[in-house]
Amino acid sequence: MPTAIRERHKLTPEEALSFDHFSIANVASAMHQLEESGACDGSCEGYSDIFTYNRWQALGFQVQKGQHGARLGIIVQNEKEDEQGNIKRISRPWTTTVFCRHQVSSKNDASVRSHTSAQ
Ligand SMILES: [Zn+2]
Repeated sequence: MPTAIRERHKLTPEEALSFDHFSIANVASAMHQLEESGACDGSCEGYSDIFTYNRWQALGFQVQKGQHGARLGIIVQNEKEDEQGNIKRISRPWTTTVFCRHQVSSKNDASVRSHTSAQ
């Protein structure tokens, strides 16, 4: 009786915090971009305050309107099967955008506000 199985397609906070595709160099680059644009005062920490849009969502935060994230080049690893049935690992470059804690707000706070106030 107590086993209600719900499918979840969202990231769990644990998954969101795993931050898998990012390197130290990525974090340094993100911080530089965010500080240059004035979005961040430099107090954010890479592995606790900078995430992608989807990860902030999974953590219960909403990226504020009009915020521009930092663009990062990352390497995505995929597996592909060749004609002989061998699995090959393929790395390809990809671009992702990350936002820092100064650019997001808690969904609980944001939900109270109407988005129709802007003229
Ligand atoms: Zn910040």
